[in-house]
Amino acid sequence: MIQAIKGAKDMLPESSQVWQFLESKFREVSALYGYSEMRTPIFEKTEVFHRSIGEETDIVNKEMYTFTDKGGESITLRPENTAAIVRATIQNSLLQNSPLVKVWYFGPFFRYERPQKGRLRQFHQFGCECMGGAAPECDAENIALAAALLKAIGIDEYKLIINSLGNEESRENYKKLLVDYLNAHIDELSEDSKRRLESNPLRVLDSKEERDKKALEGAPSILDCLDEESKAHFEKVLKILDSIGIKYAITPNLVRGLDYYCHTVYEFQSSALGSQDSLGGGGRYNGLFEQLGAKAAPCVGFAMGVERLILILEALDKLPKPEPACDVYIVNGGENFSHISAELAEKLRRRNLKVSTDLFSRSFKAQFREANRLQAKFVIVLGEDEVANGTLTIKNMSDSSQVSISVSELDSFQF
Ligand code: AMP
Repeated sequence: MIQAIKGAKDMLPESSQVWQFLESKFREVSALYGYSEMRTPIFEKTEVFHRSIGEETDIVNKEMYTFTDKGGESITLRPENTAAIVRATIQNSLLQNSPLVKVWYFGPFFRYERPQKGRLRQFHQFGCECMGGAAPECDAENIALAAALLKAIGIDEYKLIINSLGNEESRENYKKLLVDYLNAHIDELSEDSKRRLESNPLRVLDSKEERDKKALEGAPSILDCLDEESKAHFEKVLKILDSIGIKYAITPNLVRGLDYYCHTVYEFQSSALGSQDSLGGGGRYNGLFEQLGAKAAPCVGFAMGVERLILILEALDKLPKPEPACDVYIVNGGENFSHISAELAEKLRRRNLKVSTDLFSRSFKAQFREANRLQAKFVIVLGEDEVANGTLTIKNMSDSSQVSISVSELDSFQF
């Protein structure tokens, strides 16, 4: 038996309603905040990700699905979407027509990771990017959208952690302090962190290793290194969050994995997820347009892992109850009547009713069993007697009551 690729999941019919429910909420809530949908290809030139995410990140180093196509071009299945959305916004000159471009997306992403609960090789993200705005109001609105979405889908127990990485100058000043501190504690660090200390010292703060966490206990805080501009930006974001009632925990060690962030970074966490507790996060990225060869444009955005949202809803027992897939089941007396039953079914479907009929010429008993399995609300019986008399028997499956109507009355029958 050929199996699916490890870490890639089939989305089966029984779970499709959950995905449709989530997608409808993504659409609804994004629209409330003035975000429109953008769909970009699932693959890009590898350069898009190399130039944006950062050579020293796990994504670029270890996790990208990269291949050379038949034309000799290096192609990568998108591991995230911010870089691709920025590429598309530049290519289509969207910021030339509007000072602010706000888009949302939902789709599959690919990372070569070790599959485990909440960590897949093909997973889905919902994300929102606000491009062209430097004001802290953009950051706060982006966070508010994420919080509103979680509320709309039924997740109200989570933690929002937030930090500021400041502008480039603040960050450079902080890096020097951090490197001095880490060098003084180098023997306490993990091998990975020792390597990162050379290549990208801020990422040491991201480490999940206990020994690194311990070594970092007395580390300087980036918040003490913010210059006036960066401090004012962060304080305004927090002030807006306070005024709209969004709770947060300031977490100076939060840097998030990618290189392109500056100023506000944030993450939503849920204890329902176990060890992979991040359900989504984002931040400001003012340098990405330039990194991709365009005029600078300040941006802020976030992405959420959709499989993780589903895991949380499962753990909280809040998955939406599946809607019955059948309003009316037509039980018919076999092959001779199947054309009449097909005609009735088409008529009812035009009234937006979900209708199934027997497609196997099964016995009445088997057809009723099928109607029960599908949780049909009504069954129409079309047997020899009914056809002979021009009538239909309609059974209400919730109370087993039955009526007989003439075929012509079907159009006005209230199901
Ligand atoms: P990131 O793009 O790494 O900031 O991830 C944003 C969110 O996407 C995370 O918080 C997760 O919810 C989700 N995510 C990232 N990688 C995976 C993965 N391999 N499998 C499932 N979800 C993921």
